[in-house]
Amino acid sequence: MTLAERARRVIPGGVNSGQRSIPGLTDLVITRTQGSRFWDSTGREFTDYHAAFGPPLLGHNDPDVAAAVAAARASLSLTGVAVTEGEVLLAEQLAELVPSIEKVLLTSTGSEATFHALRLARAVTGRRLVVKFQGCYHGWHDAVSLNVISAPDRIGRPDPTSTGILPEVLDATLVLRFNDVEAVRRAFADHGDDIAAVILEPVPHNVGALLPTDDFLRTLREECTRAGSVLVFDEVITGFRHALGGYQEVAGIVPDLTTLGKAIANGAPVGALGGRADLMEHFSSRPGGPVFFAGTYNGHPDVVAAASATVRKLREEPVHEHVFRLGDRVRRELDALYRRLDVPAVVTGFGSVFVTYFMPGPAPRSYDDLLANDASRFVGYRRHLVEQGVFELPLNLKRSHLSYAHTDADVDRLLEATERAVGAMLADGGADDLRHTSTMGGARH
Ligand code: PMP
Repeated sequence: MTLAERARRVIPGGVNSGQRSIPGLTDLVITRTQGSRFWDSTGREFTDYHAAFGPPLLGHNDPDVAAAVAAARASLSLTGVAVTEGEVLLAEQLAELVPSIEKVLLTSTGSEATFHALRLARAVTGRRLVVKFQGCYHGWHDAVSLNVISAPDRIGRPDPTSTGILPEVLDATLVLRFNDVEAVRRAFADHGDDIAAVILEPVPHNVGALLPTDDFLRTLREECTRAGSVLVFDEVITGFRHALGGYQEVAGIVPDLTTLGKAIANGAPVGALGGRADLMEHFSSRPGGPVFFAGTYNGHPDVVAAASATVRKLREEPVHEHVFRLGDRVRRELDALYRRLDVPAVVTGFGSVFVTYFMPGPAPRSYDDLLANDASRFVGYRRHLVEQGVFELPLNLKRSHLSYAHTDADVDRLLEATERAVGAMLADGGADDLRHTSTMGGARH
């Protein structure tokens, strides 16, 4: 029996997170990672553009992060009785770097960070509603477990990703179109007094990359300020990856709370929730009752060391310069490739993140625009890419990531392999099993 078969006997679905069970790749077992590469149990090598949904911005097994973790491990493990110096230094750095962060707490995952952000917002405002946007994913917990793809006819009516969620929880969430300024104004006009929080990915990377308009982000800031609602930027993907200060630094809009994860520790399990001191202070014990916050592994010395080493490297080395340059090159040359092949495609993304939608332009601004994307082409060419040892996740609407470990030679190979993969996809017509489905077939993480 293969390892994958044994996995399916003892692990539900054979994997430990949704969307690791990929049609056509259910026998894949990973054995090794290094830099821009991973290897499977049959010895096949893949250049990794999936990057675990985003954490390894420096590349897999970054030697400086690994050394920092080893050094921490040699002298300190978890006691759970008080703060450590590493936690203080990391919090000071986050407060210095991220415009909205005055105080910050560490979690182990991004989902915990968004969970606590929304609980805090409800606690401090005494209000019920949370506004989220189509195309944005914020974790697995009930308050946000709504399909990132709420179909257009379900706008305002959440579409749960899971069974077992109380209808009351779903009823307390409004789903709006991303970049729809009018919808935001209307939601605040109709429900402003009851809106505790607005949460968004400033760039909804969970459906590839929808770039926000300045007007949209400014409107969110204005309406939240006017109504006394808490504006939460979920920067679990964009934090550190797009800038040390997150996308809020790029956009020049300061939210009230920010959630971080993924790239902040280059793959070690850590999330963070930070923001205005007057809000974050509610997490400390105080008369009138704190907002409860806890976690056995929060601030674990290993992950704190990983995060601190990641920050140090991002500050000291031209990491952003490198990944932005490669990202621009990939987008520019892929765009030229699709023009040359006369294949309708939109190549988009930001910095180190890139994605190609198989649709006519212009670049999509909301999930509705993505209904024009040809899912069978999107998945089909990626299946051919994987066959060539170039790993872009063959699931609809998934983004790809570059890291500091990727080189121009990797990009040369990516471009050559893409040309062959697109040719093969055009010859076989795309992914058979997706030909009759729309893009509604689920997209998250
Ligand atoms: N927010 C965003 C924007 C995410 O992309 C994710 C995970 N993909 C999460 C929150 C949840 O993070 P985690 O999987 O670490 O719980």
